Amino acid sequence: MKSLWNDADAAACKGDDLALRVYTSRLLGASEDLVMHGGGNTSVKGVTTDFFGNEVEVLYVKGSGWDLKTIEKPGFPAIRLRETRQLAELDELSDTDMTLQLRALMLDPSGPSPSVEAILHAIMPHRFIDHTHTDAIITLTNNPRGEQIIGELFPDCLALPYIMPGFILSRQVNDALKNVDLAQYKGIILMHHGVFTFSDDAREAYENMLELVSRAEDYIARNGVAQHPTAERSVDLAELARIRRAVSEERGSAQLAILDRSPDAQGYAAREDIAAIACRGPITPDHVIRTKRIPVIIDATPAAGVPEVAAYAADYRAYFERNGSDELTILDQAPRFAIWRNSGSIAFGSSVKECNIVSDIARHTRWAVQTGESLGGWQALPEKDIFDLEYWVLEQAKLGKAGTPKAHQGKIALVTGANSGIGLATCEALGKDGATVVGLDIDPGVEAALAALGATGIVCDLTDDDAVQAAVEHTVALYGGLDIIVCNAGMFKAGERIEAQTRDTWDRTLAINLTATQRFMTAAIPYLKLGVGPSILIVGSRNYCAPGPGAAAYSVSKAGITQLARVAALELAADGVRVNVVHPDAVFDTALWTQEALASSAARYNMTVEEYKTKNLLGKEIRSSDVGRLLSALASDTFGATTGAQIPVDGGSDRVI
Ligand code: ZN
Repeated sequence: MKSLWNDADAAACKGDDLALRVYTSRLLGASEDLVMHGGGNTSVKGVTTDFFGNEVEVLYVKGSGWDLKTIEKPGFPAIRLRETRQLAELDELSDTDMTLQLRALMLDPSGPSPSVEAILHAIMPHRFIDHTHTDAIITLTNNPRGEQIIGELFPDCLALPYIMPGFILSRQVNDALKNVDLAQYKGIILMHHGVFTFSDDAREAYENMLELVSRAEDYIARNGVAQHPTAERSVDLAELARIRRAVSEERGSAQLAILDRSPDAQGYAAREDIAAIACRGPITPDHVIRTKRIPVIIDATPAAGVPEVAAYAADYRAYFERNGSDELTILDQAPRFAIWRNSGSIAFGSSVKECNIVSDIARHTRWAVQTGESLGGWQALPEKDIFDLEYWVLEQAKLGKAGTPKAHQGKIALVTGANSGIGLATCEALGKDGATVVGLDIDPGVEAALAALGATGIVCDLTDDDAVQAAVEHTVALYGGLDIIVCNAGMFKAGERIEAQTRDTWDRTLAINLTATQRFMTAAIPYLKLGVGPSILIVGSRNYCAPGPGAAAYSVSKAGITQLARVAALELAADGVRVNVVHPDAVFDTALWTQEALASSAARYNMTVEEYKTKNLLGKEIRSSDVGRLLSALASDTFGATTGAQIPVDGGSDRVI
C-alpha cells in the first residue's frame, strides 16, 4: 500500500489537529481495501472550551452516518474524554445506556451520535487513533491457522480474540491495556474484526496502518494463489429478470438486481466448489447488515419460480430459530446478493446506491474467500457471532429509519421521448416516486437531461428496431428487469388538410407515433411479464377523442396507439401487466409547441396566448408535470385494479365529456 500523505496538503492543517484528523481519515477512506461504505472509524483527542468557557479534554470521534472517504469536521462530534473513559470501567453497560451516555457527553448535542467504538478510542492513550476493517489482515484471521499466522507476521501487534463490538470489546481492550504498555506495539489486531493503529502523530498512525496492511498483502502474495479464476460468458437477461422477481416477492417489495458480470465475478461463480466456499460467512461481521450472513447460490438455469430463493428464506428462518430468542423479531428473509452460477454476482436493493454497496462488499468478499482458500481454508466466524451482530440494535440503527417506502421504490422504468416536455416530466415524477429511470430520445441532449435527474439517458432512434431492442436489453442488463414503460415519443405537424396531405408528414407521423410504439412494446413485453407490478403507459391525445381539422396524421396515429393499448390490455392482463392511456390536451411546455405555433393557434380562436392556454372547463393551464404525475400515479398500486382505461388530462373539455 502506498502512502497518500502529501506534505503540502498536511501543512494546510498545521496547528489544527481536527483538520489533520479529517485529512488522514480521508486518506484511509480513499482506499477500498482499507475502508468500505461507512466502515472503520478514527478519532483525535484534544482540548476545547465548553459553553462556560472552561477547558475540557475531549475525544473527537467519527459520528454515525459519516463516511471516512468524505468526512468533514462536523463528522467528528466532541465528547468529554474523562467521562468516556470512566464508562469502560463499569461492570456492565447496556446498549441503550451506552448510546444515551455517549450522547450525554457530547459538547454539542445536536451533532451526530459518536461511533459505537467511541469508548475504545477513548481508552487508548494516543492522540490519533485509526481503525479499519481491512481485507488483507482480516482474511488472515479468517483461517484455521489464523492465530499462528498473525502471531508470526505481527510480533509488534497486540492480537485479541474476537469479541462482540461495543461495550464488551471496550472492556476487553481496557483490561488488556492494564497489563501491557501500548507503547511497545504498532497496532492492535482484533481477530475477525479489524485493526487499530495509534500515535500522537497523525502521519505515523496512518502510515503504521499502511505498513501493517502491506505486510499482510506481501504475505498473501508470497503464500496465496495470486490469480483467481476468470471467465467471460453471455448472460440470459430473462433469467436475470426472473431471479429479480423471485427476490422481490420474497422481500415483499420491488428490488433492483444489479449484475456484476466482470470476468472475476463470472470466474468465481463458475468454480466447482462455489457452494462450499461462498456460504461460510462474511469477511467481518460488520458486513452482515448489508449482505446478510451468506449469499444465495442460484443454478445456471434456475427452474421456474427460482426455488433457490424460497430455500434460502427457509434456511434463514432456521438460522433465526437456532440463534434468536423470544425478544427478537425476525428480519425479512430475502437474500441481499446471489452467486449465479457461471453468470456472476447479483446485488439486490431498493436503490442503486444500496446495490452498489452490496456489490462492493460482494467483490471484496470473493477476493477474501478465494485468498483464504489458497492459504489453507476460508473460515468465517461461527454463525452465532454473526447473528448477534446482525440483530444488534446498534448495527440495525446504522441502516437508518426506513420510513414509508415510495410508490415505485425498487422499480425500473423506461420512458421514450425523454429529452423534454411530457417525457422529461414523467422521468422526474417516476424518479421522485422512487423508480430507477432510463429515458430514450433521438436528441443527444437526453444524456445530460436525465443525468441531471439522477437517471440514465440513452440516445436512441425509435424507428430503428435494433436500437430499440438494444436499449430495452441494456436497461435490463443495468438494473435486472423492467416494470414500467412509458410510450411518449411523438411528433406533431398541423395545418395539413387531407386533400393536401404530404406523404412525408403522414409516413413519418405514423412511423414515429404508431409503429415505433408497437415495436417498443414488442421489445419490452417479454421483460414486463417478468416485472414487479408491471405497467404500460401510453401518451395518447385529446385529438383521439375530439379531433380537429388539419391534423389527420397525428389524430390517426394517436387513435392507433389507443387501440393498440386496448388490445394490449386484453392480451397482457393474465400476466398482470396493466395498460392505460392518458389523453393530454393543450400542454404547451413541450417541444411540439413553438411560440410561433402557439401564437397562430391562439389567433385562430381570436384569443390571446394566455386565454388560449387556459381554454378548458377548469380554466387551468396544463403542464407537462401534470401529465408526468398522472402517469406515475397510474403505474402505482393506487391504480392496481385499473387496466384498459383512458384518462383525460386536459382541464376538462366539453367535447370530450
Ligand atoms: Zn470495527
